[in-house]
Amino acid sequence: MNRARLRPEPPVLEAVERAGILLPLPLTGPYDYKLPRGVNAARGTLVSAPLGNRESLGVVWGPAEGTVGDNRLKIAEPLEGLPRLPAALCDFIDWVAAYTLNPPGAILAMALRSRGAFEPEARRIAYIKGDAVPARLSEARKRVLAVAEDGLARSVPGLAEDANVSSAVVRGLIQAGALKPTELPEFAPFRAPDPQFAAPQMNPDQAEAAQTLRQAVAAQTFSAHLLDGVTGSGKTEVYFEAIAEALRRDKQVLILLPEIALTVQFLERFAARFGTRPTEWHSDLSQKERRRSYRAVMTGEAKVVVGARSSLFLPFTALGLVIVDEEHEQAFKQQDGAIYHARDMAVVRARIENCPVVLASATPSLESFVNATSGRYSHLKLASRHGDAAMPDVRIVDLRREKDADENAKWLSLPLRQAMEQTLAAGEQAILFLNRRGYAPLTLCEACGHKLTCPHCSAWLVEHRYRKRLACHQCGYEIATPTECPACKAEGTLTACGPGVERVAEEFAHFFSGARYAIASSDTMHGPAETQAAIRAFAKREIDVLIGTQIIAKGHHFPQLTLVGVIDADLGGADGDLRARERTFQLLHQVSGRAGRAEKPGLVLLQTRNPADAVMQALVKSDRDGFYEQERIYRERVAAPPFGRLAAIVVSGYDGEQVREIARQLGKAAPPARDIKVWGPTPAFYSLLRGQTRERLLVQAAKGVDVQGYLRAWLARLKIPNAVRAAVDVDPISFF
Ligand code: ADP
Ligand code: ZN
Repeated sequence: MNRARLRPEPPVLEAVERAGILLPLPLTGPYDYKLPRGVNAARGTLVSAPLGNRESLGVVWGPAEGTVGDNRLKIAEPLEGLPRLPAALCDFIDWVAAYTLNPPGAILAMALRSRGAFEPEARRIAYIKGDAVPARLSEARKRVLAVAEDGLARSVPGLAEDANVSSAVVRGLIQAGALKPTELPEFAPFRAPDPQFAAPQMNPDQAEAAQTLRQAVAAQTFSAHLLDGVTGSGKTEVYFEAIAEALRRDKQVLILLPEIALTVQFLERFAARFGTRPTEWHSDLSQKERRRSYRAVMTGEAKVVVGARSSLFLPFTALGLVIVDEEHEQAFKQQDGAIYHARDMAVVRARIENCPVVLASATPSLESFVNATSGRYSHLKLASRHGDAAMPDVRIVDLRREKDADENAKWLSLPLRQAMEQTLAAGEQAILFLNRRGYAPLTLCEACGHKLTCPHCSAWLVEHRYRKRLACHQCGYEIATPTECPACKAEGTLTACGPGVERVAEEFAHFFSGARYAIASSDTMHGPAETQAAIRAFAKREIDVLIGTQIIAKGHHFPQLTLVGVIDADLGGADGDLRARERTFQLLHQVSGRAGRAEKPGLVLLQTRNPADAVMQALVKSDRDGFYEQERIYRERVAAPPFGRLAAIVVSGYDGEQVREIARQLGKAAPPARDIKVWGPTPAFYSLLRGQTRERLLVQAAKGVDVQGYLRAWLARLKIPNAVRAAVDVDPISFF
């Protein structure tokens, strides 16, 4: 037996050679296959299974069902040289499938999403010093041999570069036998992060939280913690201490970040603390990098993985800690394909792996807040910013009262312009925040009232003036900005309504002609590179003002930033959706938190028409917990999550009549049940999206009701035609 293996062998499922094999496809469950005699058919064994006229990757999932005759079974071959999928991952896949009402194969597909990872490892040829000594030794050849003296294996270009010669010189030496080939593994190994590399001195609050987390890691059992601290309080430093503890115990760590926060800055910060970058897992990796990361996770070589939500399904062999940073972020909710919430599933994975999970945020989700205040999670609080930085002063600008003498001022009120003047005069920096991309969210004909909308979506076309185009932010459809109204054909009557960041920038440039500014917007029009460049320029103080959408609200640390102007604080609050207030609060709190992070105090101005609104008041009074308490009471009263359960079914398809008909039938087929109410169908918020008509049904249930069982029984009552899709969203977070 392999001495390096720490776990006992999983039990052999069957002495005979049949097994249930799960394929990474949306089939109802595992299929029966035969395995070659003598194969250990333990759960998680990777196989190559014939399917139709091709071979599919598959995983031994459990005993065969035994309904198919032996002679009709095909043979699946185990893949050589690969570890099994860990049993805990298999259990996790089953759990997620059952919870989200997806076939387990569809979830398995997410766990196997690295094609090359299961192919035999390619070897690289490299060269070391050989035994022969060439007769003729030019200066160039001498240099190469001198480089090779250290015994390290190098590629031909590597040797050529290190010796500063052409590769022909190196090849000549190979031919002469003075260099000889050797095989290297396909990938250079990941360096292990060093827990001792640069540990900071914790302040007392931090030390206490870090101590709790270290103990939780040491206990090697499930526990959940809400790391709740204002921006800049050192949450990252604290969970780094927990990571250090896991590393000392030779455990693996998963850090989940919302995609948008997965930046080079985070990787560098990690490297500054642990001496090397973590292993990455997200959609920007090349196929080869994914293959490398995946294999390193599977062999246990990758100790710390930082990734977006899909990294939840990686085959960790010794997971000892899971961290979800910015746990309140909506981006953790996967909305296409299998619909799941990565934060919630991270807690489940930790439970199955028997390790702690840490949820970190300055503005937790109400769910996590309730879990922490009720004692289900430990509540680790960091009350103040690290060092001398104070929280910013938040003030309201009541737009109903501002009578501006300057008719050019449409979006920047006088108090905001005055504050801006002072900030710039003092040589400090400012942010103008508006969570709307483009120039204007709506273009309207003044003659006939026609609104320019997307032909494929129930959405307005957003003007992007720099590019002279109108675009749909849902599907990407775009047209050149027309000069006449498409409906009444009048010329010059199309008017931009409302502001986007470009329009705010235009007005800013009018009032502050000398100031250096840039727009940062999470935009296909501007692109991530341009956005990052703007943020970098701001950090380096090459510009004074950053005008942007929520992309600038996150994580960045700008010591000279002392003024944040929120152009429209009311945006988002009117969505009418259960979480609209919570989201508005979180976003505005995050943006406000950018101001005054170093010695200089910060000022935040909220432009609003609802100064009495609970969100505005909580921000002004810096009373986060008061706001959460109000939200909690409200949700408890209406039995909304987390005090009751919700699930949505979105029926969609290209034939609108058919979609509405199926949704109606589905509504009628809802089984009556105590403690469960079914609402709808009604048109979804985007009743048309990418050409598909969408209808929604909503299930509201008391806490503790088996919603999944109910949904399964319900959906089994109706045959849904192939042209229509009924997507189940358990615990929906928005009603789009
Ligand atoms: P948060 O994650 O809560 O926003 P960070 O961990 O990013 O806070 O900390 C904010 C800033 O303060 C960072 O620059 C961080 O390096 C610094 N900092 C926090 N705690 C300490 C500490 N104990 N010693 C030194 N610097 C710290
Ligand atoms: Zn569209």
